[in-house]
Amino acid sequence: MAEAHKTPEQRHQMTDIERLRHSAAHVLATAILRLWPNAQFAAGPSVENGFYYDLDLDHRITPEDFAAIEAEMKKEVKANHVFERKTVSRAEALELAKAGRLGALSERERPSVFKIGNLEEIPEGEEISLYQNGDFIDLCAGPHVMRTGNIGAFKLTHVASAYYKGDEKNPQLQRIYGTAFKNKTEMEAYFTMLEEAKKRDHRKLGKELELFTFDEDVGPGLPLWMPNGTVLIEELEKLAKETEFAAGYDRVRTPHLARENMYLTSGHLPYYAESMFPPMILEESEGGAAEKYYLKAMNCPHHHKIYGAVPRSYRDLPLRLAEYGTCYRYEQSGELFGLMRVRSMQMNDAHIYLTPDQFETEFNAVNEMYLKYFKIFGIDKYLMRFSTHDPAKLGQKFVDQPELWKKTEEMVRNVLVKSGINYVEVPNEAAFYGPKIDVQVWSAIGREFTIATNQVDFAVPSRFKLVYKDRDNTEKTPLCIHRAPLGTHERFIGFLIEHYAGNFPFWLSPMQVRVLPIGDEEPLLEYARGIQAELRGAGIRAEIDASSNNIKGKVLQAEQMKVHTMLVVGYRDLEAGNVSVRVHGKGNLGAKPRAEAVAEIIQAAKERRA
Ligand SMILES: [Zn+2]
Ligand SMILES: [Zn+2]
Repeated sequence: MAEAHKTPEQRHQMTDIERLRHSAAHVLATAILRLWPNAQFAAGPSVENGFYYDLDLDHRITPEDFAAIEAEMKKEVKANHVFERKTVSRAEALELAKAGRLGALSERERPSVFKIGNLEEIPEGEEISLYQNGDFIDLCAGPHVMRTGNIGAFKLTHVASAYYKGDEKNPQLQRIYGTAFKNKTEMEAYFTMLEEAKKRDHRKLGKELELFTFDEDVGPGLPLWMPNGTVLIEELEKLAKETEFAAGYDRVRTPHLARENMYLTSGHLPYYAESMFPPMILEESEGGAAEKYYLKAMNCPHHHKIYGAVPRSYRDLPLRLAEYGTCYRYEQSGELFGLMRVRSMQMNDAHIYLTPDQFETEFNAVNEMYLKYFKIFGIDKYLMRFSTHDPAKLGQKFVDQPELWKKTEEMVRNVLVKSGINYVEVPNEAAFYGPKIDVQVWSAIGREFTIATNQVDFAVPSRFKLVYKDRDNTEKTPLCIHRAPLGTHERFIGFLIEHYAGNFPFWLSPMQVRVLPIGDEEPLLEYARGIQAELRGAGIRAEIDASSNNIKGKVLQAEQMKVHTMLVVGYRDLEAGNVSVRVHGKGNLGAKPRAEAVAEIIQAAKERRA
């Protein structure tokens, strides 16, 4: 079988493409056995973007073997065998395994050792089933597609190694990866997307465009933002500040560290300690005992303290505290990946404190903000994953407040349905203290990113003893919405680099305008300097290429650095008071009066036009 560890519930939730890919794993095993009948198979699940099968075999399979294996797979798909399901008793399954018949085309001398191990993992009382396609029989709970012929297109991609059941005390196996699709067109689109993603890799473009860098002396996972990358950050912050100001947010600023005690109150300690940097210990601080300070992993506790700093009345709510807060998380060094997984991050954070009857309006406003941002960044495809609690796990996985869970989830659901937002509901994945929404977006080339999370929190405000005086003069605990629509600068800019392939829209572009004089004679340079000064006076990032390069060289260099707009000026332009406009990726747009060009540029920046 393939998936020893999935519960029947999880198997039931397998999507069509997961079924198809898992079925392709059976076809892969069938093909390998035709070439090497002694292969011993372990597990063959579907995974993100494909499938694999783990096997033990004397011959070391390499990509050179792929063509032969794929040819056998093709035959099996063409034969269009039915995936026949049969339930058996544990004793019958064991009998077959001992005869070497599971994960095999026929009985064999050596027993199906890994299948015996998989069988042991199936809990007592759970149905045991076999799947057969042609001669191949596997211990498997399914589900599968109907026939091998349903696998429209497949391809083997790479080999790796893995320990049986992921345990290094067990034998090491060969893991053969592949992918499969409903048809050829979908598969080709997938590989084209991968090629394109390579070209748009944020680490590669980040270096070429001088956006950010890492340095061993600074430390892994701690990005240094270079001037061009800092422009991106500041433009994003400007956008967030304007948007949040209009939506009634107040800005706050908080330190990057705090005493241990605050994190004990918030519950980050001890539960989140592994993700935090180790504490700084201050010996005998101010004559007292030694003290511990922690770098903050989240902004919430600091914001809660600001809420609690003055008495609050229902009239003060909702209170929306916003900060582009810097957080530090101790990610394992093996997990670090460019800007996508880092140890220092600046988050587009805000905490909204509110009464339960303000919830719907406020939550809706948060969603509207997301949609506004999607529009600005040309994000056409997104999905909100709404994670809810499981009533059976109250008091363990979820804070024991059955009424609040029910009520809040209902409110969130109402808002999502009413606003027509694209969402799915995922049971049993909420945070400990309330339901959450993970926001997934797709880049222009169709790759998926998780950008941001919204959480409703009805436990932490009470841990911090936050209250407001209600209409009836009693003290009540507010709800809190944690929201960060633009996520962290690190991850969002990583996404934007791929999304735009580094060709940022004018308002974001680190190099908005470069004036390119044809030659380096003083009258031309003076004309160029005048244009530059006028643009910079209006807040436009404008520079001059005053080098002695010829104009062809200047254009080429500007195009390579993806300068958005080039203004070419020669003597003819100078005399006519013109500039020749050239836009990156669009080419030469012709000459126009300088005043007109400048006005258009200023307007484009103001409107955050693409
Ligand atoms: Zn299977
Ligand atoms: Zn928070």
